[in-house]
Amino acid sequence: MTERLYLTDPYLVSFTARVVSGAEQGGKPSALLDRTAFYPEGGGQPGDRGTLGSAQVLDVQESEGNVLHLLDRPLEPGTEVEGRVDWTRRLDHMQQHHGQHLLSAAFERVHGAPTRSFHLGERTCTIDLDISISKLDDAALRSAESTANESVWRNLPVVARDFVGEERNRLPLRKEAVKGDRVILVEGVDASPCGGTHPVRTGDVGAIVVLGVQKWGQGQSRVEFVCGGRVVRLLAEQGRWLKEAADALKTAPRDLPEAVRRTAEESNARRKLSVELERQLARSEAKAMVVESDPDAPIVATVDRASFARAFSGALAEQGAIALIGAVEDGRAHLCFARPKGKGPAMNELLKEVLVVLSGKGGGSPDFAQGSGDPARLEEALSAARAKLFP
Ligand SMILES: [Zn+2]
Repeated sequence: MTERLYLTDPYLVSFTARVVSGAEQGGKPSALLDRTAFYPEGGGQPGDRGTLGSAQVLDVQESEGNVLHLLDRPLEPGTEVEGRVDWTRRLDHMQQHHGQHLLSAAFERVHGAPTRSFHLGERTCTIDLDISISKLDDAALRSAESTANESVWRNLPVVARDFVGEERNRLPLRKEAVKGDRVILVEGVDASPCGGTHPVRTGDVGAIVVLGVQKWGQGQSRVEFVCGGRVVRLLAEQGRWLKEAADALKTAPRDLPEAVRRTAEESNARRKLSVELERQLARSEAKAMVVESDPDAPIVATVDRASFARAFSGALAEQGAIALIGAVEDGRAHLCFARPKGKGPAMNELLKEVLVVLSGKGGGSPDFAQGSGDPARLEEALSAARAKLFP
């Protein structure tokens, strides 16, 4: 069995070890060592990265009680190698993982919500809690967050070792052990069975920020959070987003909520106005066109926008005409067929026949139907529709 140096010293980043054996694992060379500081993926914490001699460590996994290092090149069995763990990545994982212990303990203490699972992602982390989202409003999230941060800022010692027998029985364990006797204990705050890497004091977590919550499964909630260095990175990133948004609206970041609300209201009012103006224009153009047209023939026309095709065909039908209107917008041909209410051939049937020409799709009622398809064949489709009504 591999001696796991990270269990006794999670700050150890360089070590020497003997290569016990090498093999192929999924097409990649792998190596077992007599001892390692590399943490293998488990308990929600990803495996470490780094180097073994001249080989890059691509992944680290549990394998029948051993720690298996997956490499970019093979190592000679029997040789000594120097190992170097990527410390930036490990510290990040320790901050997220220990922060999760403290946050889970806080949700349990403050809201009686046990943690069912933990995921440490590339950007953010999540815990799934046994509590309905209706009980986790912003104030509830902030109180758990501040309890967890209080544990961080008290800079309490973190004990990580095996606990057995009477001593173990006295621990108020937050969850059942999956395997082994190791417990991570922060006196008065949390006691959890865990094989992960943890800092020696809670202060190393830096800070814990709850980003949000969403409904998860039956009566569960998924809480998203970040700890330590990720708080700093995320704050900088969100600051950039806010600045870009504020610059686009020519306002200051702190005035964004008001500016966005105002912009949305204005845009909504303009949209309503443009619909109304389009309707008025369609009505007046329809009147003029009906006067000039053969009353027995359908009116066929192409216009610039799909929305105007809808308004115009409707307005022509109100004037007593059958309207076959086309438009090309966003690289697609749009067809709008309309007839005076309850009079004349069924527009949905006509559209169905003509959509074959366009290789398109659509539908509607006998009075009004619309569809879209290949823009190159719009004229052909309109002519075909006209020929069917007015041979
Ligand atoms: Zn843990």
